[in-house]
Amino acid sequence: MSLAAEPRGVTARVPGKINLELVVGPRREDGYHEVATVFHAVGVYDHVTVHASEEWSVQVHGPYADLVPADGANLALRAARHLAKVTRVRDRVAISIDKQIPVAGGMAGGSADAAGALVACEALWGLGLTREELIPIASHLGSDVPFLLHGGTAMGSGRGERLAPVLARGELHWVLWVSADEGLATPLVYAECDRLRGSRTVAHPEPSGRLLSALRTMDTEAVGVALRNDLQDAALSLIPDLRDVLQAGLDLGADGAVVSGSGPTVAFLVGSPAAAIDLSVGLAARGPQGEIKRAVGPVPGAHLVSSFTPSDPSRTG
Ligand code: ATP
Repeated sequence: MSLAAEPRGVTARVPGKINLELVVGPRREDGYHEVATVFHAVGVYDHVTVHASEEWSVQVHGPYADLVPADGANLALRAARHLAKVTRVRDRVAISIDKQIPVAGGMAGGSADAAGALVACEALWGLGLTREELIPIASHLGSDVPFLLHGGTAMGSGRGERLAPVLARGELHWVLWVSADEGLATPLVYAECDRLRGSRTVAHPEPSGRLLSALRTMDTEAVGVALRNDLQDAALSLIPDLRDVLQAGLDLGADGAVVSGSGPTVAFLVGSPAAAIDLSVGLAARGPQGEIKRAVGPVPGAHLVSSFTPSDPSRTG
C-alpha cells in the first residue's frame, strides 16, 4: 500500500497589537467611533494554517481555544470565505489556528487571525495580490485587520482602518498583564466611554506630537509618559481592579503603563529585556491574578512561515 503524501498547508504567522495612543472621537452614524490611534504590533503570535479541502472548516488549538468560536462566526473563516468571494475562487479551505494571542483582551486577536487567513489563502490560491490590494479586503472584515496585515507601528484614523506610517527606530520592551478572568467586549467599553464622557467628546481626534517625537528617537521614558488610551477610564470603570494592576507595574519601575485597546490587557513599557524579566517576576510575586507575557515591538504584520507544529488541545467546527 502506498501512502499518499498529505497536501502541504500554508501557514501565516500574525502578531497581536497594543495601542500606544487611542484618542476616541464622537460616535458616527454607522455606530463606530472616529478614532486616532497609534498601533504597535508586538511579538505575541497566532499561527493560521490553511489546507485545500472539500468543505469550509476551522479548528482552534492552544490555551485560549475554548474562548474562540469554531464555526462560521470565526473571523479567520469569515476572512477566507470573503477573499474567495471577491476573487471568485471556488476552492474551500480547512483552517487550523494556533491561538496564543489572548481573546477579548484588547489585542485584536480575532482581527489577527483574519489577517493571517487572508495572507495564507492568498498564497494557497496563488492570487498574486499585493499587500496594498489586500488592505481594502481587510478593512471590510474589521477596523483592526488592515493594521495586522501591515504590522510595525502605524497611525490609524477613521475607525482605525486608514493607516499611515510612523517613523519609529529600534525596539520597545513590553510586559503584558493578561486577565485570568473573562475579557471585555469592545462595544461595551465604547458604550461605557460614551456614558462617562457625556457631551465632553473630542471633536477631531488626532495623535499627539509628543508620542510621535518620542517614537522618532525611541526614547523609552518619553514614550512611557506619552502612552494614552481614552478607553482606559471605561475599562477601569468596568473592572476597578485594573487600577491596582496599573499601579503595581508603575511601583515596580515600569516607564509607562496603559490598558491596551478596549482592555483588559495592560501593557507595561520597560527599558531593556532584563528590566522586562524583573518586572514580570515582581508582578507575579506581588499579586494581581493574571498571566504575564513579555514581548518586543514593533514586529512585522501577517507573513508566511515555512514550517510550524501546532499545539494542543483543539476545538473543531
Ligand atoms: P479588539 O481589540 O479588536 O476589539 P479583542 O482583542 O478585545 O478585540 P478578540 O480577541 O479579537 O478581542 O475577540 C473578540 C471576539 O471575537 C471574541 O468574543 C471571540 O469569541 C470572537 N472571535 C471570533 N473569531 C475569533 C478568532 N479567530 N480569534 C479570537 N476571537 C475570535
